Amino acid sequence: MKKIKTYNIGFACFLHEAHSFSNIPTTLDRFREHHFALGAGEMRKTAGTSTEMAGVWDIAPRLGLQLHPIFHAFPVPGAPLTAKTFNFFCDKLVKGLRAAAPLDGILLNLHGAMIAENALDAEGEFLRIARKIVGPKIPIVATLDCHANVSELMVDMADALIPYDTNPHVDCYARGVQAARLLRAILDGKAKPCMVLAKPPLIPVPQKQNTGQSPMKDVHALAFKLEKLPGVINVGVALGYAYSDVPEAGMSIIAITQNDPKLARTIAEKVARKAWTVRRGFIPDFPKPAEAVAMAIRESKGPVILVETGDNVGAGSAADATALLAELLRQKARDAVVMMRDVEAVNACFKAGIGATVRTTVGGKTDAFHGKPVKVTGRVRLLSDGRYVNRGPMHCMEEGVEWQMGRCAVLECGGVTIPLTEFRVYPRNVMQLKSLGIQPEYCKIIVIKAAHSFRPSYEPIAAKIIEVDTPGLTPTDLSSLPFRNIKRRLFPLHPDATLKSMIISERSGGCD
Ligand SMILES: [Zn+2]
Repeated sequence: MKKIKTYNIGFACFLHEAHSFSNIPTTLDRFREHHFALGAGEMRKTAGTSTEMAGVWDIAPRLGLQLHPIFHAFPVPGAPLTAKTFNFFCDKLVKGLRAAAPLDGILLNLHGAMIAENALDAEGEFLRIARKIVGPKIPIVATLDCHANVSELMVDMADALIPYDTNPHVDCYARGVQAARLLRAILDGKAKPCMVLAKPPLIPVPQKQNTGQSPMKDVHALAFKLEKLPGVINVGVALGYAYSDVPEAGMSIIAITQNDPKLARTIAEKVARKAWTVRRGFIPDFPKPAEAVAMAIRESKGPVILVETGDNVGAGSAADATALLAELLRQKARDAVVMMRDVEAVNACFKAGIGATVRTTVGGKTDAFHGKPVKVTGRVRLLSDGRYVNRGPMHCMEEGVEWQMGRCAVLECGGVTIPLTEFRVYPRNVMQLKSLGIQPEYCKIIVIKAAHSFRPSYEPIAAKIIEVDTPGLTPTDLSSLPFRNIKRRLFPLHPDATLKSMIISERSGGCD
């Protein structure tokens, strides 16, 4: 059998979605609480999951890509990385790439909405560092979360950027495989990617970014159609992350063709114009808590999912908003569940012990955005170490991955059960509640602090899903946040935005 030619590839995974107005600093500890690993042994633990890293791990040997793994790191989204934390990872990248030299290529799994105290465009800077080490001729291919705020620097420093095609993200593994295949094709001289970035003046909020629903579904439909044209390598639509206060904030189209700048430009512009034409669909119109809770109580069947959109933990908020909890208690809901981060309340429950009655306050303790603490009296039903393994066809990094919620306590307060967690938890997998002795399919009402990431896990059991306009750090009305770095007029933040402020930028092949 013919022996496949092998290539040496530097490999790192660095993901963070930065909320500019969060007061939860992103330090190395935040990474350690979730996912942080150095070197092949630990990093390989993501193999067998549905992540983009797993896609790379699985396909690399078959493609003859000899991986030199440097680190993988991803915390729960929060504030920008501290300068010390960002420098730590940049230093690891530099040392890792130098140790693996000579390299034939670099494969990175990035997010695209990372900010550091010392780098507003953290991925741009990270890619610039990688490029500086290997020089202009070594190909760099990176996957992105489709919440990326793509910058011109990122496009200049990489040969190809491949964002997820789905939100909720269920194609991460496939994008990891795709990026590895493309890198191999470049190394073989079969692919010569030409990348063009188009940034329509749009900044949709996460609540309106479901790729399975209009308007995003319509934008992606066009992107997928154009992707089938001869000479097209990939058409990626990055939805943008609206809570990053950076000049690059907003939607981005990344068209990659086989060495054809004109075609890439035409495609990127076409998809960007399509997104602009459907822009009114990006304005949310959700009921307020009192109305939404009344609707949920009236429903004959459960579970009714109340989506607390103002406290979207996966977008960096506090996980302790109290608007829906207070309303459920006020309207005396039955069989309702509200998961909440509250270290003090967890401590009180652990101190009291199982079966004890605890009088305490829960939620509203992280900042001034998420409502006031709510007084509750409840019975401690269960105490846990908070470890669970995600199951099912879920959001990236999920299937088979062990997560930790920190110490947890389940407090029963009449008809409302409050699973209390020590860490901020993405509420996006039914296994979280199941691991705490709660059967979500038999609940009447479940409050989910998210936008869309819960859907793959919860939609199969939900009788109804009601998105609710609630206060918090992830509001549906962006004008309530004090943006300073967004210079362009972006719809719907600026209702007077026009298509004139669209950016179209071709990769300069830049390298310093
Ligand atoms: Zn995302």
